[in-house]
Amino acid sequence: MNNYRPTVAKINLAHLGHNLKVVKRLVDAGVKIMPTVKANAYGHGLVQIAKELDKLNIDFLGVSSLEEAIALRSSSIKRPILVLGEVFKKDVGVVLKYKLDQTVFSYSLAKALNNQAKKIGIITKIHIKVDTGMGRLGVMHKEAFELVKKIASLKNIKIEGIFTHFPKAETDKAFTNKQIKAFKGLIKKLSENGIYIPIIHSANSMGIIDYKNSHFNLVRPGLMLYGIYPKRGLRPVLKPVMSLVTKIIFIKNLPSGHGVSYGHSFIASKNTKTAILPIGYGDGYFRGFSDKAQVLIRGKRCKIIGKICMDYTMVDVSSLKKVSCGDEAVLIGTQGREKILASDLAKLVGTIAYEVTCSVGARIPRYFI
Ligand SMILES: *Cc1c(COP(=O)(O)O)cnc(C)c1O
Repeated sequence: MNNYRPTVAKINLAHLGHNLKVVKRLVDAGVKIMPTVKANAYGHGLVQIAKELDKLNIDFLGVSSLEEAIALRSSSIKRPILVLGEVFKKDVGVVLKYKLDQTVFSYSLAKALNNQAKKIGIITKIHIKVDTGMGRLGVMHKEAFELVKKIASLKNIKIEGIFTHFPKAETDKAFTNKQIKAFKGLIKKLSENGIYIPIIHSANSMGIIDYKNSHFNLVRPGLMLYGIYPKRGLRPVLKPVMSLVTKIIFIKNLPSGHGVSYGHSFIASKNTKTAILPIGYGDGYFRGFSDKAQVLIRGKRCKIIGKICMDYTMVDVSSLKKVSCGDEAVLIGTQGREKILASDLAKLVGTIAYEVTCSVGARIPRYFI
C-alpha cells in the first residue's frame, strides 16, 4: 500500500530482541518465557511481533482473546498459545480447533472443554487462573484447591499450568509477596494431594525485574519486551521498540494575537512560526496532550500549541533557525540528543505508557525495522 501520509510507527525488532535477552538474563536457566502479545502486541503489531519472538525462541505466546489467537495460528505460528482471557462455553470448539491452551477458572468451562475434547478424541490443555488479590478473572484463592481437584478428575483435560497475576507489584511489595506466598501454599497443598501441575507462573514485567520469588518456571513479560519500564528508576537497560514519527506538512506564520485550533486555547503572544503535523486524536495521539506535549524537530523540543484535532497537531517552531515542510517530527522516540518516551507522554495526562502505545491507531502503518 502507498502511504501518502507520512505518519508512521517505526517498530525496531532489534530492540525487541535486546529486551527479550534482558528477560532471559533476569530469570534462571530453564524458566520458560511467555511474551504477552495481546492488544495488537501493545500497539506494536500482533503478527509481526509474534513472528519475530517465535524466531527468537520463546516457549509460549500469551493473548487475551480467541480472535488474537486465531490471527496467530492463521499466520502459521505453531507455538503453544495461552488464551489468558475468559471465553464462553459455546466457543470451546474454537479453542480445540486452533489447538489453544485455555485459561480456566470455573468447573463449567472445564466440563465444556472436556466434553468437546472427548467428542473428538483428544486431550486438551488448560491453565488454571487463581485470584490471589487482583479481583478480576480467576478462581478465588480459597476455592482454588477444590476446583483444581474437581477438574483434575476430568479425563480429556490436562491441567498443564496454574497461574496468578499481580495488581500492584510496582507499588506494594508486601502485598505482592503475600500473593506469592498464598500461591505457593496452594501449589504445595496440591502436590501434597497428588496433583502435580508442570507449569507454574505469576510474573509480569515488574515481577520479572523485582521479584525473583515470583518466577517459578515460566514468566509472562509484556511491557518490558516493548522497552517500557513498569516504573521509574529500574536497573535493566531496556530499549523502546516503538517510535512515532511524522513530517511537517505545512508551515505558516501567525501574527501576534492570532488563535490556534478549536476553541483558541492558544493565542499567539508574538509572531509565531507554526508547523502543522498530520497526526491527531483520530490516530490515538491524545487530545489531552494539547498545549502540553512536545515533539522533536531538527533535534530540538518544540511545543504543541492549541487543541490537537482529529487529524492535525500544531507546533510552535519559532525557535528553530531553519525549518522546512517535510522535516521529520518525532512524537515518540529519539532525534539527535533528545528523546520522548511513551511514559513521558503518559505522565502528562495521568495515564500509563501501556495506554499510549495501545492507542496508536489502526490508521497508522507499522514499519518494521
Ligand atoms: C498483560 C499481562 C501480562 C504482562 O504484563 P506486563 O506488565 O505488561 O509485563 C502478564 N500476565 C497477564 C495475565 C497479563 O494479562
